[in-house]
Amino acid sequence: MAPSKMSIPPPNIVNSEFKEPLLCGPGPCNMWPSVREALTKPVVSPLCDQFFSALDDIRAGIKYVFQTKSNLVLAISGSGHSGMETLITNLVGPKETLLIATRGIWDERAYNVANRYGIKTIIYRVPYNTTFTLEELEKQVELYRPTAMFITHGDSSTGTVQKLEGLGDICHKYGTLLLVDTVVSLGGVPFFMDAWGVDAVYTSTQKALSGPAGISPVAFSARAEQKIKNRKYETPFYFDINLLAQQWNCYGNTRSYHHTMSPPLIWALRECLRQLSIETLEKSWERHAKSTRHFHERLQRLPLDFLVPNPEHRLATVSTLVLPNGYNYNEVVKYIREKHNIIIFPGLGPTAGKSLRIGIMGVNSNSAVADALADALADALQALVKSSL
Ligand SMILES: *Cc1c(COP(=O)(O)O)cnc(C)c1O
Repeated sequence: MAPSKMSIPPPNIVNSEFKEPLLCGPGPCNMWPSVREALTKPVVSPLCDQFFSALDDIRAGIKYVFQTKSNLVLAISGSGHSGMETLITNLVGPKETLLIATRGIWDERAYNVANRYGIKTIIYRVPYNTTFTLEELEKQVELYRPTAMFITHGDSSTGTVQKLEGLGDICHKYGTLLLVDTVVSLGGVPFFMDAWGVDAVYTSTQKALSGPAGISPVAFSARAEQKIKNRKYETPFYFDINLLAQQWNCYGNTRSYHHTMSPPLIWALRECLRQLSIETLEKSWERHAKSTRHFHERLQRLPLDFLVPNPEHRLATVSTLVLPNGYNYNEVVKYIREKHNIIIFPGLGPTAGKSLRIGIMGVNSNSAVADALADALADALQALVKSSL
């Protein structure tokens, strides 16, 4: 092309060094060293044996971490939201009804996604610092008999964990499918897809799995699979589970090309799942409970309150904390980032301006990180009080 046509000069992209922060927000989390290494493995052909064998390993790992015997398990190319959009668009058609149990921001996202596809949405809301009783959920399901119900297991915007045991049976009594977000809970707190009667579930890699964002494991029950096979509506091409199942060999050795998956992310997800399989889920749940218990014990010496009053509703991976009067949430977050190189987050959605959100999960779930966080908070509370008086 003639130089005269060049109206945009090349930008001067300068490399700069920075120290890796300790990522203790509600996600992303730091990565396991072995996952970091896995990201540098060779890019291979998406049609070669090594690649399909990695997909097989991932499917076996996904069955383990979701605790499901279902064969319709795979991972969507995209962050947690891609899993959400896949579940909703594959299982609920236009004019069908989605009941959304709402207590935080992820339920609001599900509402936005569903509305874009002409799905009828029903919101059932409880205060953000609590969770749902199964009785109240049953009332809603009985009343509306929706095609599906969406609920978040661990909510990183509020720091709550929802009891799900028994909910699948309730939904199935009324012909409703149960859709669950486990993005910030999987690996950190117990989850049993089959035993709890969950029909579809998604998670993401950058939270308690301690991997990079960009790939979202999903699983569907036999009931959900029937719905997908018999549906009369179209889904987005990129999220079409019927096509993706052919690429992921869910029904035999089909190996059909749908889109180019990212080999680094495939290697990374495979390593996250390998890591968790070696540690075992039980040990990982125990480790998360223990680190967070230790963190909460350390907090007793500080003038901080829990946003979630009932300890049974508190999520082990993300703690939500209320500052004493006179402190500004954004200033505390900024101080801890600048002075300690630790990332924590302020509130989001319903908890904006009301809470700190502190994640202790994955590779960071240990007492050393819990101590570093408690020390940083103590320092911030002391340093900042003068400026706000
Ligand atoms: C982080 C998070 C999401 C969103 O995931 P992305 O990877 O940012 O798309 C969804 N649900 C929950 C519970 C989360 O914590």
